[in-house]
Amino acid sequence: MATHTLKGCGVLQVRKQLADEGKNHADFSLPTLVSRHRRPLRVGKIMAMPAALALSPEILAKYQPVIGLEVHVQLLTKTKAFCGCRNEYGGEPNTHCCPVCLGLPGALPVLNKQAVEFAVLAAKAIGCEIRETSIFSRKNYFYPDSPKGYQISQFDKPIAEHGEIIVPDASGAPKRIGVTRLHLEEDAGKSLHDGFADSASRTYIDLNRCGTPLVEIVSEPDLRTPDEAFEYLTKLKEILLYTAVSDCNMEEGSLRCDANVSVMLKGAKEFGTKAEVKNVNSFRYIRAALEYEIERQIGVLEDGGRVVQESRLWNNAEGRTFSMRSKEQAHDYRYFPEPDLPPLVVGAEWQKQILAAMPELPEARRARLAAEFGLSAQDAATLTTDRALGDRFEQAAKASKSPKRVAAILLSEITMRLRAAEIDLDHSPVSMDGIVLAADLAEAGEISSKQLKQLLDTCFTEGRDFAFVYDRDKPQQISDSSAIEKMIDEVIAANPAQVAQFKAGKRTVAAFFVGQVMKLSKGQANPALLNELVVKKLDA
Ligand SMILES: [Zn+2]
Repeated sequence: MATHTLKGCGVLQVRKQLADEGKNHADFSLPTLVSRHRRPLRVGKIMAMPAALALSPEILAKYQPVIGLEVHVQLLTKTKAFCGCRNEYGGEPNTHCCPVCLGLPGALPVLNKQAVEFAVLAAKAIGCEIRETSIFSRKNYFYPDSPKGYQISQFDKPIAEHGEIIVPDASGAPKRIGVTRLHLEEDAGKSLHDGFADSASRTYIDLNRCGTPLVEIVSEPDLRTPDEAFEYLTKLKEILLYTAVSDCNMEEGSLRCDANVSVMLKGAKEFGTKAEVKNVNSFRYIRAALEYEIERQIGVLEDGGRVVQESRLWNNAEGRTFSMRSKEQAHDYRYFPEPDLPPLVVGAEWQKQILAAMPELPEARRARLAAEFGLSAQDAATLTTDRALGDRFEQAAKASKSPKRVAAILLSEITMRLRAAEIDLDHSPVSMDGIVLAADLAEAGEISSKQLKQLLDTCFTEGRDFAFVYDRDKPQQISDSSAIEKMIDEVIAANPAQVAQFKAGKRTVAAFFVGQVMKLSKGQANPALLNELVVKKLDA
């Protein structure tokens, strides 16, 4: 939680001491709401801790895990889903609110057109079919950070269904994971449990997030391992970032994931009882939480017990999940069509307009870059994980005589130095133009790879671009053939065994001579000329 959201004075308070007194909402009055919910983490912490799990591989191998994921993604609209309040992260608590998102009586929602367009774009990007007429429904439940007492969501007629995401399975082969549905809904506000002087007795409420447009993307229970779940989330995030409908910033909660997980004996027909793991804020932690949860459930079954359908929280510090609510299942949300919103109709013409903004998606771009610029599959994949990086590469590749060399310098030399200096590409001292210049000089043989490395080192040490450093420190290069020939003669005379190998047909030995002469010239021999002359001399 950002500190500035904790300092504000306009925060609604929830009196925790009244928790669980069974008050109904008729007793509540703003600004003091009464929470009927205990702090979930506290509940977890006082539970008996299970013994450390260590099941044998033989026992684990008897069971088949089944995983389904529900991902909530905040849309990057300028305003909220049903009102004109600004849709942005943070801000002084309770300042981005109005009667509509506060759920005050008589206030009416008006659907944000941009949210619909983003939902359609995201849905099509993951292969969903768009339902021309979808219906908003009320999902009724009370929570202190959701003052209306219900959430506007979509229930039996969501805007999109039947999508898919392709992930690599354990062997690297493509595996189809079904997407059941994508629907539009609104986010709730936030309960602030920590950070105030009286946090031990009170929970504070910030409603700025209330009414933020979300899409919820629900997968089929097609995932079988925590690694597949990790790959699914990675692909989904990558695709969503390409469509630019969300920033998918997990730290700020723009992308949140709940995982449903169960285990069954291999070969069984029916899925086991599932638990829902909530509140995990990174893909790595989700993988860890699933690994833990699968082993926990197998342990329960092996001990003759029964897995309970419940929500569980991942505690990263302890590396385990904890029961959050148990017997509170079988929610009855009493869904009914939202009477304040008409059916949402996205006809063929509107769909066409929306889809005109569909960018080339990562997989397609990967294949095209590999074909167009002769890149390896690995390089093409790395360059397209991020749309902006892909754009920059393509621009540079088109400006250079050697796109392959641009990729190589960017992915190895530059990336390595950025990592060492702990800066990102946006703050690299070497611009993309600098990379193009470096690639072209290297390709033309005007600088050796050793000189390239030295020049780049200087760029990073001094924080200057490549063109400047190259102009100033232009390496002394020996391009005088007779001087190079003299050095080649010297190396040939000193290495008769390698000469014999070359003469016997092992032509790759030429590289050895190039290396030796380069060393002798202190890296200053013109590499193109050197290569040519070495072969000529050896053939003579
Ligand atoms: Zn509002």
